[in-house]
Amino acid sequence: MQNTQHFRPTKAIIDLRAIKKNVSQLKEHLQPNVQIIAVVKANAYGHGDVEVARVALDSGATMLAVATPEEALHLRKHFPNTEILILGYAPESFATYAANENITLTVYSKDWVKQLDTQSFTKPLKLHIKVDTGMGRIGVTSVEDFLELHEVISSSSNIIVDGVFTHFATADEEAEEYFNHQTQLFKHYISLIPKPRLVHAANTATMLIKDASLQFDAVRFGISMYGLAPSTYVKNKLPFPLHTAFSLETELIEVKQIQTGQSVGYGATFTATEPSYIGTLPIGYADGLIRQHSGQHVLIDGIRVPIIGRICMDQCMILLPTAYNIGEKVTLIGSQKNEEITIDEWAQKVNTINYEIPCIITSRVPRIYHTK
Ligand SMILES: *Cc1c(COP(=O)(O)O)cnc(C)c1O
Repeated sequence: MQNTQHFRPTKAIIDLRAIKKNVSQLKEHLQPNVQIIAVVKANAYGHGDVEVARVALDSGATMLAVATPEEALHLRKHFPNTEILILGYAPESFATYAANENITLTVYSKDWVKQLDTQSFTKPLKLHIKVDTGMGRIGVTSVEDFLELHEVISSSSNIIVDGVFTHFATADEEAEEYFNHQTQLFKHYISLIPKPRLVHAANTATMLIKDASLQFDAVRFGISMYGLAPSTYVKNKLPFPLHTAFSLETELIEVKQIQTGQSVGYGATFTATEPSYIGTLPIGYADGLIRQHSGQHVLIDGIRVPIIGRICMDQCMILLPTAYNIGEKVTLIGSQKNEEITIDEWAQKVNTINYEIPCIITSRVPRIYHTK
């Protein structure tokens, strides 16, 4: 798939069949005519934006969403006719590019709109108004600002209100009060204007476990497209099984025996209490295996073994039960025989959420795509 040749054995394997299944199953789960917006920001949560976008569109998604102008332009090169929405901030200076490239922008300030040089647009610029109903991030926060913004856009030529949307702060939690408050507020906002083409609110958690009426015209499918649940609460209420797409593999590049009392790594923090076999892996914190992962298990020959000592920039060491051969496969995320190391396990180890794990596996780790 890529022209680049990879010599180092460290690689992320992306199973595009899993993404295909996740999107197809979601399509079955949704109300008819609800569009799926595939959220492929941050290089598709670290999975590879173009490849994920292609399989998502082939499996039922009809639109792509990203966070930045750069991400949108990159996808536009590969998908000349697909609708692309930028969910985050774009400066006024990008608006001309957006209009010409048919990229839809998120808007929440009338001053931003007033600065646009709409006469320079070769095509009308599509805008989605963002309403902040409780996330406190971007979006209009009063009915007055909302109506003014709507009016400014509606009365200008070359720009149109193509959509209105909001984002939930607590959709993945059991407590409903905050979520219901956001829902009611959003419904109130949209009741005040003529219905635009696309009203949308649902992130993954909302579309999977909340009332179907909140699917509106479209849903923004992010984390579970990659086979990961947004939270433990949602994981226990999934309407269909998810298939994880991301795994991380490498190979042993050195194996040595050390004696009782000998140490391993910077700071000599691991000291052998018995004669031990140590394996070296060509992956380190510059690949996204951050130092807090020390102690994390990896799989070799279907057995769990720990990363020992401090993780280096480009390498780390594992404790082996026996002298495996150089070149033996090591799975950092994924399964071998009956054992599995999940992204959720990695996230727990470093006190974060699963979203963060594939995102921070750096571009030095090639993404290899499995399609069959
Ligand atoms: C990232 C993002 C999403 C996707 O969220 P998931 O929890 O991954 O489904 C949806 N909407 C907005 C505005 C986002 O920024």
